Amino acid sequence: MPCVYLVIPCYNEEAVLPETVSRLTKKLNQMIESGHADRESRMLLVDDGSKDGTWGLISRFCDENELVSGIKLAHNRGHQNALLAGLMTAKESCDCAISMDADLQDDVEVLDQFVEKFLEGCDVVYGVRNKRETDTFFKRATAQGFYKFMQLLGVDIVYNHADYRLMSRRALDALSEYRETNLFLRGIVPLIGYRSDYVYYDRHERFAGESKYPLKKMISFALDGITSFSVKPLKIISNLGILVSLCSIIGLLYALIAHFTGKTVAGWTAIVCSIWLLGGIQLLCLGVVGGYVGKLYSEVKARPRYRIEEYKK
Ligand code: UDP
Ligand code: MG
Repeated sequence: MPCVYLVIPCYNEEAVLPETVSRLTKKLNQMIESGHADRESRMLLVDDGSKDGTWGLISRFCDENELVSGIKLAHNRGHQNALLAGLMTAKESCDCAISMDADLQDDVEVLDQFVEKFLEGCDVVYGVRNKRETDTFFKRATAQGFYKFMQLLGVDIVYNHADYRLMSRRALDALSEYRETNLFLRGIVPLIGYRSDYVYYDRHERFAGESKYPLKKMISFALDGITSFSVKPLKIISNLGILVSLCSIIGLLYALIAHFTGKTVAGWTAIVCSIWLLGGIQLLCLGVVGGYVGKLYSEVKARPRYRIEEYKK
């Protein structure tokens, strides 16, 4: 029987945690009885520097419930880093770790299927959403646009898979070798390359509390994903530069003709428009390049990605 760790990042989740823990306790006990998990299995709650009573709750659960362990990060480092902290801690004791959200959006009933695939020899099992009916139209459209765009840029990510996945210890060891600061786990895990499979599930609505991914964070997460895995935007802007240069040759010809036919004053509009347009394009391109430079900056510094302040086993 495998030792299964459920790794759950929690940021200001006091509204939902009691329910999550009670449901997962029930589920884990079931799994232990049905032989899907051994008695050392547990859930590992990672408090990502919450500002509410999340850590208080977690430490209470650790004392009362032997199926619960908790980690407290010293700062809020974001979902991906919190997840990594949990996975890297779990790696020391588990045979496989399953990452899931604290808000019960990921269907806990399919946990057995994850473990079954693991027992069949898969090192990575991706949870894939069947449909996204519970998401708002906006979230669904932007998310699907994002997956399509990533594929267009040649990034290998699993369509409609968020961070509900199982990784074997061997896969976690491989993951630990990816030392990037700009962490985008969905892009890294497929790079590991071990045998993988999928489990399909219906995504529920958030049980309580509100989304910790407001639009702004969502956009920056998406852009982060793109620039961490693809340099195509750099190529696109070079091509844009070529295109604009070609256009400017046409403009030059027009200007010369206008000059020799004596219609020079009429060129004012064209000049003003092109100044604004070109200025805009240049700034945009500079911004894209700057985005990559900024990433290099944080990668080169290679600061620690998280710091564990407390670990309650
Ligand atoms: N989360 C985190 N740190 C953050 C933001 C979110 O650990 O800075 C956790 C959060 O507690 C939850 C998971 O990441 O368990 C997913 O967040 P959420 O459900 O709010 O995102 P959504 O499902 O709305 O995309
Ligand atoms: Mg959620």
